[in-house]
Amino acid sequence: MGAGGGDGDIFSQMFGGGGPRQAQKRQVKPQVKEVEISLADAYNGCKRDITIDRQRLCNVCNGIGGTDATAVQKCTDCRGQGMVTKMRQMGPGMYSQSTQPCDACDGAGEIINLEKRCKTCKGKKIKRDKKKIEQEIDKGCPHKEQYTISGEGDCVPDVEPGDVIVVVKVRDNKIYKRKGADLYMEKEIFLLEALTGIDFTIMHLDGRIIKINNEKGQIIKPGQKMTVEGLGMPFHKTNYKYGNLFITFKIKFPDTMTAPDCAKVADILKTNKLPSELQDIEACKETVKCREFSEADKNTQATGGKTRQPASDEEMEDEEGGGGQPGC
Ligand SMILES: [Zn+2]
Ligand SMILES: [Zn+2]
Repeated sequence: MGAGGGDGDIFSQMFGGGGPRQAQKRQVKPQVKEVEISLADAYNGCKRDITIDRQRLCNVCNGIGGTDATAVQKCTDCRGQGMVTKMRQMGPGMYSQSTQPCDACDGAGEIINLEKRCKTCKGKKIKRDKKKIEQEIDKGCPHKEQYTISGEGDCVPDVEPGDVIVVVKVRDNKIYKRKGADLYMEKEIFLLEALTGIDFTIMHLDGRIIKINNEKGQIIKPGQKMTVEGLGMPFHKTNYKYGNLFITFKIKFPDTMTAPDCAKVADILKTNKLPSELQDIEACKETVKCREFSEADKNTQATGGKTRQPASDEEMEDEEGGGGQPGC
């Protein structure tokens, strides 16, 4: 019991080991508060109001528990320990020893003069309150970054007040994925753009609209990754420097093309076949057309047809080796 009254538990919970160096100066365990911010907030920096629900010393009696220092006296029965050791005679010359809470002070180790007892906290020395504190979250703040608000956490008489630790959770962004100080995005472009050059705009995390293009004549292949320098996140703590933006391209191919267009494209993209291929073409005696793949085309059993049980999900879509040679 004691000063904590009904909150007795909280005392034992609160004493976080202050670390070996601060062994003498006990400090109340810190309170942890989580704040969630967007990736844009992390890019630009932001401020967040943190409401701390905490136990503080009573501000009327300043944590004394009474109107003045004499209101609270150390219990003489237990010498302030709150516990007493009692000897009990079990039989002739036999004693047993037991330690139990002191009756005189009800285990508190001190006795408060009822006349002088603080009316606000009823001698408990503490009260609960709520405080709103604005926490600045700096540019480039990483996910799980921690900010310490010193001494604004819970209090217990005669112990250093606890801190509040603000843990920042950065939400995922739909477009930009963050890794370290870099950003990653995917971009789908048309085949024409892949061949003749890209030219598109993005909206960055600070709202800037930025045009992105490449060197004419440079061809972008499916899955190719390109770097845009300086469009990543600001470096945390050196926020005048920036990471990079990496764009992975997906190419949207046309579904069909007319025969005349095929001829035009063939004229532009014509490639010379290797001599060995030409030999193969000469020797070729059959021509087979390929069509779009369908699950129904599969023979999952060596004996042909399908097995009853569903094929294991990630079964590779085997590209059967013998598929007709192109051009045959
Ligand atoms: Zn008080
Ligand atoms: Zn006592």
